[in-house]
Amino acid sequence: MTARVLGIDVGGTTMKAAVRTRRTDGRLGEPEWTARRATPPDETAADALGEFAEALIAEHGPVDAVGLAIPGIVDDAAGIAEFSVAPTWADLPLREAMAARLGLPVALGHDTRMGGLAEGRAGAAVGCRDYLFISLGTGVGGMLCLDGSPRLGPHHRAGELGHLVVDPLGVECGCGQRGCLETIASATGIARLYGRGVSAREVARRAADGDARAAEVWREAVSALVTALLSAVTLFDLSLVVLGGGVAQAGEQLLEPVRRELASRLTFQHAPEVVGAALGDEAAVLGAALIALDLLDQPDLFNKDGKK
Ligand SMILES: [Zn+2]
Repeated sequence: MTARVLGIDVGGTTMKAAVRTRRTDGRLGEPEWTARRATPPDETAADALGEFAEALIAEHGPVDAVGLAIPGIVDDAAGIAEFSVAPTWADLPLREAMAARLGLPVALGHDTRMGGLAEGRAGAAVGCRDYLFISLGTGVGGMLCLDGSPRLGPHHRAGELGHLVVDPLGVECGCGQRGCLETIASATGIARLYGRGVSAREVARRAADGDARAAEVWREAVSALVTALLSAVTLFDLSLVVLGGGVAQAGEQLLEPVRRELASRLTFQHAPEVVGAALGDEAAVLGAALIALDLLDQPDLFNKDGKK
């Protein structure tokens, strides 16, 4: 069945949208159009999201369903935005509110999980049933896919690799623990460790140019990431690790030392393949479109009482 869906990735600063059509042969066409709008920094974000979707549909024609990728703590199955600082919301039944406002089926999921889902269906993890997707950006997010299904957990908090403690005596994380992976291997963490007011991208560049302090910070980020990966591989016996987000744009400068250190620290475990993400920052928008298509195929997939 052909279907036309709208996917929106609601980021802390920007909302990104694209319309995708699935053709009769089941294949997904290229984005028909894409659009961006600023996310308001306050509690008007949900209303702005509704307006954005309405304006896009009015301008570009009807769609069959809408998919949303949102940040923070998200109950994908119940469609509830539980908590986020940017955009600002708490315990918001966003899926039902959007469905009522637009008069359309709406699917909703956590942004990192939507990115990981898209990498699994159309990116770096196609054909892989057991993989970990890690987004190394301002923060560190993760999505664990086991036996072909994204693992949410009973409280939809599974896969939060950024908050694995890798240095128990380390600095305090935004989550309240100390020494989370995110405090060391996120873009924010790398910039903080290096100091001197430069970005993580600049630290990577300086490390490549032979700046000893930058190289040390980069090694520290790699080691912290490998410590977290060791735990993940030991627990879940993964085939593949996909590294995405801004920090992973360093490519082999990140991938090569991660592979090398991971191989040297594993003992009985099998080393997973470690690759860069294929979909860049469009992954979550595509993931949002994919869950909208899933919803059309299986309308009872996300039923009202939140059971799958
Ligand atoms: Zn944390």
